Amino acid sequence: MTITAAKLPLDNSFASLPPAFYTRLMPTPLPAPYLVGVSDTAAALVGLDPAHLNQSDYVDLLTGNLVPEQSQPLAAVYSGHQFGVWAGQLGDGRAILLGNMDSAAGPLELQWKGAGLTPYSRMGDGRAVLRSSIREFLCSEAMHALGIPTSRALSVTGSDQGVMRETPETAAVVVRMAPTFVRFGSFEHWFYQNKPEQLRQLADYVIDRFYPPLREAANPYQALLEEVTRRTAHLIAHWQAVGFMHGVMNTDNMSILGQTLDYGPFGFMEAFDSQHICNHTDQQGRYSYAMQPQIGHWNCYALGQALLPLIGEVEAAQAALDVYQPAFANKIEALLRAKLGLTTEQEGDHALFDAMFALMQANSVDFTQFFRALGKLQVADPATDAPLRDQFLDRPAFDAWAAEYRARLRAEGSVDAARRVAMDKVNPKYVLRNYLAQLAIEKAQNKDFTEVARLLKVLQRPFDEQPEHEHYAALPPDWASHLEVSCSS
Ligand code: AMP
Ligand code: MG
Repeated sequence: MTITAAKLPLDNSFASLPPAFYTRLMPTPLPAPYLVGVSDTAAALVGLDPAHLNQSDYVDLLTGNLVPEQSQPLAAVYSGHQFGVWAGQLGDGRAILLGNMDSAAGPLELQWKGAGLTPYSRMGDGRAVLRSSIREFLCSEAMHALGIPTSRALSVTGSDQGVMRETPETAAVVVRMAPTFVRFGSFEHWFYQNKPEQLRQLADYVIDRFYPPLREAANPYQALLEEVTRRTAHLIAHWQAVGFMHGVMNTDNMSILGQTLDYGPFGFMEAFDSQHICNHTDQQGRYSYAMQPQIGHWNCYALGQALLPLIGEVEAAQAALDVYQPAFANKIEALLRAKLGLTTEQEGDHALFDAMFALMQANSVDFTQFFRALGKLQVADPATDAPLRDQFLDRPAFDAWAAEYRARLRAEGSVDAARRVAMDKVNPKYVLRNYLAQLAIEKAQNKDFTEVARLLKVLQRPFDEQPEHEHYAALPPDWASHLEVSCSS
């Protein structure tokens, strides 16, 4: 059965909250929209046939030019700490919620990102440019395929309407999906406005809808803080393990579900440098790769502060926040063991990991290529290391580490073939390198959207060998070293 765009079966769960939480408004249409990209798996999730999405009524829908009959569009209010400083009210400055749809994984909210001015646009124009929209679209779907909690992206549509950034660009809209877009900053908003009633309404909404088991806890608000803290720690361990850097870990970009949210100037680590800063705007490196774990904890403290009036005792909030470090440590260790193909825990594993990262750092080794190549190592035959060893300038240092690693593998009776299969399932071959995104963007800016589609397909199977797409796993070309991504999007 074909669902017409106007009849999209939407519910409006968030709109059931009192009006203080949002402003109802319509998206601002864009002239002559066109489909830039669509995720077939995201579409299937909400029961849409991706083949229908290039029909003009759907292109209108995905752009915000057509508002489904059952939609009650709204922009939500929130606040947040930006770069460690209280920023006051922010809110959906360019995102507008259509409502939610059913999926196999429960209800999913759909948002237009870049759909025009809202009361929270502040100095902004309510728009998103094609470049950033393609990046968010591709990365959301890539992260999902990597098994990392994230908002999803259904589509990107574009229009020739100009949008001014550092240079003139054109407008685009991403339809993104998540069970909720409530952020840490949504809670901070009511705390700093001194509105305990709204704070409680929001917490109850989130618990009842997304964390129903916590309702049974002695202190459900403490339990909420603890669970969000744990999920955030786990999320950031996942990021570290794949070399993902978010770039803008402000509290208004932290999902209350512990999902990756608000893709802006993100990056995947290439030549390993733990101090790497992927966001050109972040001069101090607050959100560098190495800082992400502690910033995650800091953000949970900001959430804990906001929830304190509901939790009651400082000690109870502190106890909830204390789960962060062990949760992060346990998760990252488990992920690193898997990345190295280790199936047991042994003393000295830490030292092995630390030595590995030090070696990667000293040799500026490509993060993704290193782990992928490590899976090919054979325990009994150092001669097989050549492709891996070639990634290092300091070969003797590599040999010394590889000897330790081999000894560790022998100690648990590791079998080469089985280990390689297991490692290939956790060490991706394909990640969204900046230069790959850039090539797809440049073609799209010339109205050739084929590369967006091709790259999406590759990134949807990041762990599979795809011999026909070998070049998508290549190191960045020289020109890519000049690529800069910033908060301007
Ligand atoms: P971000 O750093 O992208 O998460 O954005 C921080 C805040 O600025 C959020 O409230 C956004 O909605 C808002 N914002 C970012 N870009 C724009 C824009 N072009 N127009 C309106 N609001 C924007
Ligand atoms: Mg944001």
